[in-house]
Amino acid sequence: MTTLPKNAPSAFHLLAKPTGAICNLDCQYCFFLAKEQLYPGSKFRMGDDLLETYIQQLLESHQTSEVTVAWQGGEPTLMGLEFFERSIELVEKYKKPGQQVNHTLQTNGTRLNDKWGKFFKQHNFLIGLSVDGPQPMHDAYRVDKRGRGSFDSVMAGWQILKKHQVDFNILCTVNAANGDRPLEVYRFFRDELGAEFIQFIPIVERINVDGSTAIQSGERVTERSVKPKQFGQFLSAIFDEWVRRDVGKIFIQHFDAALANWVGVQPGVCIFSKTCGTALALEHNGDLYSCDHFVEPDYKLGNIQEKHMIELIASKKQRQFGQAKLATLPQYCRNCEVRFACNGGCPKNRFIKTPDGEPGLNYLCAGYKAFFTHIDKPMQMMVDLLRQGRYADEVMQLLSKKERRARKPTGFGRVLKSH
Ligand code: SF4
Ligand code: SF4
Repeated sequence: MTTLPKNAPSAFHLLAKPTGAICNLDCQYCFFLAKEQLYPGSKFRMGDDLLETYIQQLLESHQTSEVTVAWQGGEPTLMGLEFFERSIELVEKYKKPGQQVNHTLQTNGTRLNDKWGKFFKQHNFLIGLSVDGPQPMHDAYRVDKRGRGSFDSVMAGWQILKKHQVDFNILCTVNAANGDRPLEVYRFFRDELGAEFIQFIPIVERINVDGSTAIQSGERVTERSVKPKQFGQFLSAIFDEWVRRDVGKIFIQHFDAALANWVGVQPGVCIFSKTCGTALALEHNGDLYSCDHFVEPDYKLGNIQEKHMIELIASKKQRQFGQAKLATLPQYCRNCEVRFACNGGCPKNRFIKTPDGEPGLNYLCAGYKAFFTHIDKPMQMMVDLLRQGRYADEVMQLLSKKERRARKPTGFGRVLKSH
């Protein structure tokens, strides 16, 4: 058992990529596929010795009673079921007394069968399923190696999850193909897939001068990327429907984080927190990176087979990475009325200039500003309800009453009607 460094965080989130960037699909916007180039000649499979080191270090580093073992990719199911069965054995071996371990796995869903379904259910996995909306929108970019849409095989995976009653989240990227169709996307998840938890991930894919997208630089983005205002309108349209009928039933990460910031508590999402740095990524060979969005040589902290992960996480380099989110916030953001909700967004997307020419503004700024301004009134109503010890979902009744009142015919209208 290692001695924890004094400044070690009590908990952190680590996404482990047992197959590195390797995936059976070839989604056109996937920034991870290009990361294959970071490890030329690698087999891209996490070995058993590293798996054991990872689980042991993860469990001993946490000072909280709950720990999450999170698998991501590439496509983690390419490791085969045995790999995850072994991870469960190792969790049992290294779990501290009283420690509760949660398991999550992010998948494209195309390789799931009954065996996976049973296993996920038995060990209470929370599955993140990547779907971009109804078929034409999903198939626009989520294609296999031969360029064929993956919608049907993803739906087969979803059927498996439903059949075995596995808890799942939908992860939906917002891009050029679905960005103008928010309600179709939302209603599909809610009404067709029965999803209760949804995350929207804006596609912001930068192109370098040489046309590559592996290392993020440059101010240009691909055609597939969502446009800033389009993203704001997308979220606003879904919010308007959600706040009138789905509060307390459907949980959307952006809205939960916004409510937390309106209330004045930690949003639980790094993107909208003041600082970050506690959401790291582990590659298939043990290399630990500052963040899943920064799996790049400059952001490598070290290898957990050479140095304990908690020392790397508590390192000056990682603390500086997390603090930089606040320290590099442009003056334009510091003066912004919705800064408390936005906090400048993710540093990954801070590559445009402010209107007065300062670098470091978020590419999505125009959308964020419009969205956070748009939701201010209903958010205030929910905050008031919570402060009165009532439930936030009462906002739906309040809004409907208010809107009925606004629609009520005026006295003049009534006179006309009675004749
Ligand atoms: S860089 Fe972005 S995604 Fe990574 S931890 Fe910070 S806010 Fe989160
Ligand atoms: S809305 Fe724009 S200006 Fe305001 S904090 Fe966010 S990124 Fe900065």
